[in-house]
Amino acid sequence: MDWQIPSLTYEDVRLEANRFAARYWASGSVPVDIEHITEFELHFDVIPVPGLKSLLKTDAFLYSDFSAIAVDQWIYTYHGVRHRFSLAHELGHYFLHRDLYAKLHIGSIADYQSCRNALSDADMAYMEDHAYWFAGMILLPLGHLERAVADAVKKCRDHGVSLRRMWDTIGERRYICEPIGRQFNVSREVVGRQIELDGLDHKYGLAAPRKSRWRPGIGR
Ligand SMILES: [Zn+2]
Repeated sequence: MDWQIPSLTYEDVRLEANRFAARYWASGSVPVDIEHITEFELHFDVIPVPGLKSLLKTDAFLYSDFSAIAVDQWIYTYHGVRHRFSLAHELGHYFLHRDLYAKLHIGSIADYQSCRNALSDADMAYMEDHAYWFAGMILLPLGHLERAVADAVKKCRDHGVSLRRMWDTIGERRYICEPIGRQFNVSREVVGRQIELDGLDHKYGLAAPRKSRWRPGIGR
C-alpha cells in the first residue's frame, strides 16, 4: 500500500503550528495549556494505558477516528513535562498527517503495532521528525523562546561565562535550558533541541555562525 506520507519542510510545519496557535491558544501566553487544548478544545479523550511505553516503544498514539490519544500511564502520572510533549507530538500527527492516520485504522494497541511494522523505519523517522518539530513549535512559541534565550545569554555574559564552551558541554547547557524549561513547562532537552532547530544557538552566540542557510528537513 502506498502510504502517501506528506512531504513537509520545517517552514511548512511552522505554518501549521502558527495556524494552531492562532486558533487554539490565541492568548499566546506560556506555558501553553496543551492538556486543556487537547481535551476541551479538540475533544480528544486522553486514555492512560499501563505499560504502553514498554509494549510499543512509544509514549503515546493517536486513534484513527480522532476520538482519543492513548498515553503511557506511568508518564501520565509521574512525568508531567514528558506527557505534555507527548500530547503536543500526537497533535502534530493529527494536524500534519491526518489523512494518512485516517487510512491506518488504528483503534487498538494491536492496530498500532501492525501499522508500525508496515511502515519503513525511514518513513517512520520522517513523520516523527515533523511531529517533534510541531510539538516544539507549539510548546515553545518562537517569540517567547527568543526572548528567553536573549535574557539567559545576557545573564551569562554579565557573569563572564564563555557561551560557546558552555553550550558545547551538554551538562552545562542546563544553566540556560533548565530555567527556560521551567518557564514553558517542558524538559531541558526539548528546550535545547528547539533552540538549535530555530537557529537561536547561532544567532545568540552559543554556537559559531552558520556558513550556509541550513534548514531542518532539507534533503529528502
Ligand atoms: Zn509520533
